[in-house]
Amino acid sequence: MSFSDADLFNNSHAVPPRRSFNSESNLRDLELRVNKLELIAEALWEILKKETHLQEADLIELISEIDLRDGKFDGKKAKTTAVRCVKCDRMNSKRHSKCLYCGEVFLLDPFE
Ligand SMILES: [Zn+2]
Repeated sequence: MSFSDADLFNNSHAVPPRRSFNSESNLRDLELRVNKLELIAEALWEILKKETHLQEADLIELISEIDLRDGKFDGKKAKTTAVRCVKCDRMNSKRHSKCLYCGEVFLLDPFE
């Protein structure tokens, strides 16, 4: 069997470009992580319902409130790029672990 120019342009046996493979692999990884987070969130909600008097309406109300904190009801939590120092009240980039003005150490938001 010989290898010809026609074989080079025959896509039926072409191996997907490496970038495509990585994208598909990354997408599968993301899907697995989202599924796992969905399970964890549901389990945590079941625990909360069992241990408190909270109901579905409370959860929905809080989800809407968090969603609207950036002024947009879009089903997403806004990512903040700046943090206000609790000690001197000045704004800093979230890239810094402490205030550039007074040195106060920032407490990190566990969800960002
Ligand atoms: Zn400060």
